[in-house]
Amino acid sequence: MPGPIDLHAHSSVSDGTQTPAELVAAGVAAGLGVLAITDHDSTAGWDQAIVAADGTGLELVPGIELSTQLDYASVHILGYLVDPTDADLIEATAAIRSERIDRAESMVKRIARDYALDWEDVLAQATPGATIGRPHIADALVARGHVPDRSAAFRTILHWRGGYYRPHEAPPPIEGVRLITGAGGVAVIAHPGARGPERVLTEPRMRELVDAGLFGLELAHRDNPPASRTHWADVAARYGLVTTGSSDYHGAGKPNLLAENTTDPEVYAAIVARATGYRPFRTAPEA
Ligand code: AMP
Ligand code: FE
Ligand code: FE
Ligand code: ZN
Repeated sequence: MPGPIDLHAHSSVSDGTQTPAELVAAGVAAGLGVLAITDHDSTAGWDQAIVAADGTGLELVPGIELSTQLDYASVHILGYLVDPTDADLIEATAAIRSERIDRAESMVKRIARDYALDWEDVLAQATPGATIGRPHIADALVARGHVPDRSAAFRTILHWRGGYYRPHEAPPPIEGVRLITGAGGVAVIAHPGARGPERVLTEPRMRELVDAGLFGLELAHRDNPPASRTHWADVAARYGLVTTGSSDYHGAGKPNLLAENTTDPEVYAAIVARATGYRPFRTAPEA
């Protein structure tokens, strides 16, 4: 009997606190049957995760969480089993990562007016080449003793109303869906009930995303308030989208625990059947 299916997790290639190999080991320790590695705007962790999964019996789904933006709202789109050599995807993700650095530097400049903090502090918190985000600024604020932990930083200094926030530029969601499907991947909107997507993903826009190839919605996720789930379940039913459930595990960086939400095996099978860009990596456990 294979274990639970968790289709959303981050490593130190973006804002998770564990290396891809450590993330896979955590998935094995948690008894998962299937784990997707979905770093923000990067596939750089795949190779290490695949090597780590070899012989464990854990099925690894290489994926990505693409940053998109609409009317100042951040909309994250999970892309499963994309072809990592797709030229358009490589170009778009490189541009997003670069823009994220500019944006983080500009936030740090604003914060530095009121708190002792410089760009070097932030770089010290990230693996070289990692996709930079507010979590790295948060870790730098923790290291400087300004806040006790990441979550406290997000509630205060890094909050979008905290006075230092800057949105980062990224392609619109429709472009994100096109990039993922164009690379043979399967597009699922991450935590649609979170504040940003909930505000901008109106009915006509959902219709456009579905026409562009959107495949599913991440319904079971702690950032979807219970009151929003009826709406999103209804949207999924109306447009024939699958619904997934995932943890959005970030290691020690967030309270989210592996397998706190999971995806049904039939839905996972439909995702795999749909993908043409890459295959899940599965091996039998070593005896
Ligand atoms: P950014 O994309 O740079 O604006 O940062 C948002 C990212 O920070 C999200 O993708 C989350 O993974 C992460 N994040 C959001 N809230 C928290 C939190 N309370 N603690 C740790 N990480 C968080
Ligand atoms: Fe994240
Ligand atoms: Fe996200
Ligand atoms: Zn995520």
